[in-house]
Amino acid sequence: MINRNLLYISVLLMFITSLPLYAADLPEDGTGENMADWLVVESTFSTIYIDKNMTAGSVSARIDTSFARFDPIENRLFLDRGISEEQILANKIDIIARKAMKVLDMKPEDFHVNIKVYENEIELWAAYERIFREQEGHKAFYIHKYRTVYISYENLGESVLAHEIGHAVIDSYFKILPPEKIRELLACYVDVHLKD
Ligand SMILES: [Zn+2]
Repeated sequence: MINRNLLYISVLLMFITSLPLYAADLPEDGTGENMADWLVVESTFSTIYIDKNMTAGSVSARIDTSFARFDPIENRLFLDRGISEEQILANKIDIIARKAMKVLDMKPEDFHVNIKVYENEIELWAAYERIFREQEGHKAFYIHKYRTVYISYENLGESVLAHEIGHAVIDSYFKILPPEKIRELLACYVDVHLKD
């Protein structure tokens, strides 16, 4: 009987101690947000976190990657039909990430970026304030420490995503980071040449 109780307690303890592992699966992004009900979409180069009230389809609809038809591999991803909304979104993000690396001629080893899509600017700015303890009205931003792009649904588009993913590529590529102005110039170069 004692043994059975001990077994029960140890099983219970195992269960309790395993709970935080679920939270630990989510990346540290400086916001302290509970993302348990966020939709998570995995792509080759990215993990996309989508705030509730939005779907992979609604996010995907804001991203135009028709420029991909000029590149054989991107074109294959672009033409992939009969797949889920999640997979279409994953393909679009991969097309943009591939293009950012191609435009910059930088291929960081094991490149991966998290993308957090907030419902609106108010939520995005609140996240910024939680991270930096100051207010700022950015359309989107990237924090290399967390390997994360933060963006709002209403400002979502292929150009702004290319710019921010460009920042992730640049910061992942350099062992010693160039000055901020140079990194900004390079990131702008990505969205200028996205559709070439
Ligand atoms: Zn920038």
